[in-house]
Amino acid sequence: MVPIQMVDLKRQYLKIKNEVDGAILNVLETTSFINGKAVSDFSTHLGKYLAIEQVIPCANGTDALQIAMMALDLQPGDEVITPSFTYIATTEVMALLRLKPVFVDVDASTFCMTAEGIRKAITPKTKAIVPVHLYGQSAPMEAIMDIAKEFGLFVIEDNAQAIGASITFSNGKTSKTGTIGDIGCTSFFPSKNLGGYGDGGAIVTKDAALADKIRMIANHGQSKRYYHDLVGCNSRLDSIQAAVLNIKLGHLDEYNAARGAAAKTYTEAFSSNPKITTPTIAAGNTHVFHQYTLILNDADRNGLVEYLATKDVPAMIYYPVPAHRQKMFGFLNLPDVDLPVTDWLTERVVSLPIHSELDKEQLEHIIHHVNSYLK
Ligand SMILES: *Cc1c(COP(=O)(O)O)cnc(C)c1O
Repeated sequence: MVPIQMVDLKRQYLKIKNEVDGAILNVLETTSFINGKAVSDFSTHLGKYLAIEQVIPCANGTDALQIAMMALDLQPGDEVITPSFTYIATTEVMALLRLKPVFVDVDASTFCMTAEGIRKAITPKTKAIVPVHLYGQSAPMEAIMDIAKEFGLFVIEDNAQAIGASITFSNGKTSKTGTIGDIGCTSFFPSKNLGGYGDGGAIVTKDAALADKIRMIANHGQSKRYYHDLVGCNSRLDSIQAAVLNIKLGHLDEYNAARGAAAKTYTEAFSSNPKITTPTIAAGNTHVFHQYTLILNDADRNGLVEYLATKDVPAMIYYPVPAHRQKMFGFLNLPDVDLPVTDWLTERVVSLPIHSELDKEQLEHIIHHVNSYLK
């Protein structure tokens, strides 16, 4: 059996080696390493794929979030509603900009922020909502957009884990995640569903004027060369990464379908195990399974992870400490919050290997050992 990894980038690379090597060599030959044609080509292709006009590539997903918050002129002390049950980048950039993250609980079956939680968290200081499409499916964007409209709030989607996922609204319209709010942010970290061979990220919006501002901020606040109208930063996607991403974007639906098939196999195999709750796909959502995450019921999670390791099956806890319990927020003197579902999930979730290359033999091996430990 091929060794099992959380993500098998090597096997995926070997299948597209000729294409990718050719694209990288092409960048080497043109030597336009920064803002080369590969970058503009990739932006165009990503815009078509997501059906959104404005795509601003940047250096990573964390920068994408920070630049989005800067572009919306969020000011120190402004409150931003966001989940605590997410990767640290979502809320870290808020701390960096001295915004006040207001942590809201998540739904115990979808792992995403709930509309009721958001409503309760709104105060006169609330300026924005940052939903996270955790593990690969949309947060309840219809309800979130309704709330945002009602209270005049910005919505920045953290789409780092859900590129390619979609949501169908009650009017029958289907949109890709990341294209629904004012701004969508994504990451091309190698292990993401659309991953480069290094760091990368992108910001998307429908609003052309906002896109211009985002472009300026990502480029030292420059309006024209050496004229700096805004405080910005330096955040670029390099041409080699764009060339790789251009190739991989062409395979994204196929990769997501393979993840979905593996997830289906897992779910069928675990659904009758009373110690396991398998992932729920919310009505109207498609799920791209960035992670395949189980909730364990009265089971020894550490014991399972250790046991699986002895069988050469990796398993991970995403995430062992929710944002509201991280020491880094101490300086913001945030009020204590009670997030019972977040705390409950933090103690019970475990993620199994999921990627486009998992084969039948590997899946059977993983399933066998998970079910035999959780008897
Ligand atoms: C990966 C990730 C990010 C950050 O992306 P980087 O490219 O690593 O900076 C932000 N939010 C979420 C939810 C992520 O999973």
